[in-house]
Amino acid sequence: MRSDPPNGGEPLLPLGGEPADATDPALETVRPGQPTPGRLGRVGPGADEGLADPGEPGRRQRHELWMRRALEVAVTGPAAGGPSTDPADGADLAVEDVPVGAVVYGPDGTELAFGRNERELTGDPTAHAEVLALRRAAQRLGRWRLDDCTLVVTLEPCTMCAGALALARISTVVFGAWEPKTGAVGSLWDVLRDRRVNHRPEVYGGVLENETAAVLRAFFR
Ligand SMILES: [Zn+2]
Repeated sequence: MRSDPPNGGEPLLPLGGEPADATDPALETVRPGQPTPGRLGRVGPGADEGLADPGEPGRRQRHELWMRRALEVAVTGPAAGGPSTDPADGADLAVEDVPVGAVVYGPDGTELAFGRNERELTGDPTAHAEVLALRRAAQRLGRWRLDDCTLVVTLEPCTMCAGALALARISTVVFGAWEPKTGAVGSLWDVLRDRRVNHRPEVYGGVLENETAAVLRAFFR
């Protein structure tokens, strides 16, 4: 687990960003020592220049606030209550499940849905926090497109979840701890910033990285 924030939670690829050359030295500031999958989008310092609305007041604070909510979901489980309609709510906590939490926010910042990793609880290999949160958010909105929505998750998404996020047309992804073993948003792969893909969400990694990593470390200790 990384201990230092790779980029301080700054955007890796602002929405609509113009892709930079894969040999851009700025890539090194995002995942030092990590192989890059080739044709990455623009990343690193200055990547959001003129693009991402860097002057928006309180964005970092909002992301951290949302991440704390995702952490709450991760450690307290589905019984915590909220907009979820999942029948598992109120069930015994899935203590065996890796504590990963995800929350989807609407364009106005309203919490639409949340999900906690329930793979062990449900015996479902696809029951990752992100997938559950996406499904519930889509159900609540009555559509599969989650344009202008933000998904916040405590751990870097895997390939499945990154694919699901892209398919949901989610606008922004905010994640906490980096996952060097399975991460698909900059670690092992970079599904969301692959410029061969038409839809590339705005990505913020390493938000509250220490806190989110600590929860996972405590679980695996
Ligand atoms: Zn996943």
